[in-house]
Amino acid sequence: MKTWRMLQKESFTKLSDLTTYLELTQDNLELVDFSPHFPCLVPRRLAEKIPKNCLTHPMARQFVPLKEEKWESPDFIEDPLCEQGGVRVTPSLLHKYDGRLLLIATGACAMHCRYCFRQHFSYQSEDKSFTQELDYIRQNPTLHEVILSGGDPLSLSDDHLENLLMHLDQIDHLQVIRFHSRFPIGIPERITDELLTILKRLKKQIVFVVHINCADEYDEEVTQALRKLTALSIPVLTQSVLLKGVNDSALALKALSLASISRGILPYYLHKLDKIRGAAHFEVGENEGIALIKELRKQVPGYAVPQFVAEYPKERSKTPLIVLQN
Ligand code: SF4
Repeated sequence: MKTWRMLQKESFTKLSDLTTYLELTQDNLELVDFSPHFPCLVPRRLAEKIPKNCLTHPMARQFVPLKEEKWESPDFIEDPLCEQGGVRVTPSLLHKYDGRLLLIATGACAMHCRYCFRQHFSYQSEDKSFTQELDYIRQNPTLHEVILSGGDPLSLSDDHLENLLMHLDQIDHLQVIRFHSRFPIGIPERITDELLTILKRLKKQIVFVVHINCADEYDEEVTQALRKLTALSIPVLTQSVLLKGVNDSALALKALSLASISRGILPYYLHKLDKIRGAAHFEVGENEGIALIKELRKQVPGYAVPQFVAEYPKERSKTPLIVLQN
């Protein structure tokens, strides 16, 4: 059996390899951006879900760099959330909200999503001991939760991850360690027995928020990987981004919500797209998003409807765009 590291090395990083694999014909090849500013990175599992010669499929839209990324739109900028400003309290810590903060555990991901709001930054920290970050957390007793993000925290080796988790686990005032990860979708083999053993040893409550945008991203291996987490009493939630051509229909959102709840996974957030340079072609209007959520609410139970939210700089929490009565 291949290890997750082997599978990671098999990901498509060369666009010429990916376009050949996808059997793109000339008219589709002309739509591809062969010199993207955000490099191509697509795990084979995800490439296998793209029908041949089809760039309009939701999986293709999410991962194949298109010339549409070169569209300039004045509202779409490199740092719409002002993450490079005062909220960055150490090279790898973003402290925006009361009680919780975001630790950019690594800049590396299992895949490169074309709409990623951190695609213009290098968050790679050379210091995998996270000394400054741990000191900051220890000195702030108001913190009750640390969110491990990135990049993707599961890109860290087990040794580095274990070291970080064990230190966090010893900080009394912390109650929850939350992972934000897309690894289980692209390389579910990352949920290894070794990783589960590390998680089992922790005293703190662990929460996993998995980034997933459409039902096609689930398959048997993904389901099994997520079940290994829920079997440890780790709540698994989803977060998605509302993306044109990917999930901007009540049908697609319903399929995703039902696919999640049938696996014991609760829809948490549906994010309005952050206005990041290169992602304007993914934008869905706010009113359209609200209408989609209202329609979704008619078709699935309340617990299967994610909160439709936007993130604005200087706001002390995410902003709900619609509040539904259950
Ligand atoms: S996995 Fe997350 S951080 Fe990585 S490219 Fe995708 S959206 Fe960005």
